[in-house]
Amino acid sequence: MLIDGHGRTVDYLRVSVTERCNFRCQYCMPEKPFSWVPKENLLSFEELFVFIKVAIDEGITKIRLTGGEPLLREDLDKFIEMIHNYKPDIDLALTTNAYLLEATAKRLKDAGLKRLNISLDSLKPEVAHHIAQKDVLKQVLRGIDKALKVGLGVKINMVPLKGINDDEILDIIDYCRKRNLKVRFIEYMENRHAVESLRGMHGKEILEKVKEGHTIRALGREGASPSFNYMLDEEYEFGLIDPHKHDFCENCNRIRLTAEGNLIPCLYFDEALSIAKFVKKGDIVGASEVLGKVLRDKPKENRWMDDSVDSSEDISQRAFYETGG
Ligand code: SAM
Ligand code: SF4
Repeated sequence: MLIDGHGRTVDYLRVSVTERCNFRCQYCMPEKPFSWVPKENLLSFEELFVFIKVAIDEGITKIRLTGGEPLLREDLDKFIEMIHNYKPDIDLALTTNAYLLEATAKRLKDAGLKRLNISLDSLKPEVAHHIAQKDVLKQVLRGIDKALKVGLGVKINMVPLKGINDDEILDIIDYCRKRNLKVRFIEYMENRHAVESLRGMHGKEILEKVKEGHTIRALGREGASPSFNYMLDEEYEFGLIDPHKHDFCENCNRIRLTAEGNLIPCLYFDEALSIAKFVKKGDIVGASEVLGKVLRDKPKENRWMDDSVDSSEDISQRAFYETGG
């Protein structure tokens, strides 16, 4: 079992398999990054797998593949199969923008993938285009339909932004409720890479919008999930991911690994340690020592909770497209 320096059990590893993306979401990657990590700096799937085996052996039970856009990485299905074959009961999930999902969903499912989180910020083509800076909606909706057809579990993520898609919260609920999909509204997390003028909706404001059309009842957090759940009209459950709230980090159970091999204890802070040189030579003892150190030094809480965050100096330089959000 993996325990961090604050006594929290860590059983969840998020692996960003690429920082590249086919979208340019304004809250994540507004302009073409001028310096992609050179391809030769990326760890191969075999090298990432060296660490994943160590992490599973030491107590990780849930793995989420993310990015950038993970479906851009070639042979992702083979990587999924490697992990699945090593530990078939691992809770293996993927976060995607779904643009390439129509063509890949069946292969991912056959490889052992169980669940998907799909980003869907708007049901209006022009708004989706404005946010992603590309005409994406039709293809994303096709991807969602295909994932459901092949039997993958699907949850929807939406980031509500003031003056952009804040009038679509009820429509997204409607879309998801009809398809029996859980939606989680994610508070926009301020970061150095987003379009500066963006303003996210705080959890309280999101709930006020929902209440305009429905009754809601708070259910609470589900274990270590970052999502605080609500019952809508006594029949449909949705979630709110609210990193600005004070109890958000209390049960944090996750660490993150980038495609270059940086192991990150907290999304908010810059601190990270590299496992690259160890996994390249198959040194599982070295990789395990880095894991232990990252756990010991995992911060107690993020500082989005601080309302002064906009002027904060300590928010990470790293982009969410690098860490996988
Ligand atoms: N490309 C995939 C996607 O968009 O689903 C996976 C990577 S993306 C970085 C993972 C998640 O992070 C997405 O649900 C996205 O909406 C969320 N995200 C990115 N930037 C964010 C921000 N500034 N605030 C809140 N959520 C963010
Ligand atoms: Fe790409 Fe996902 Fe970031 Fe959008 S949120 S730019 S889809 S990595």
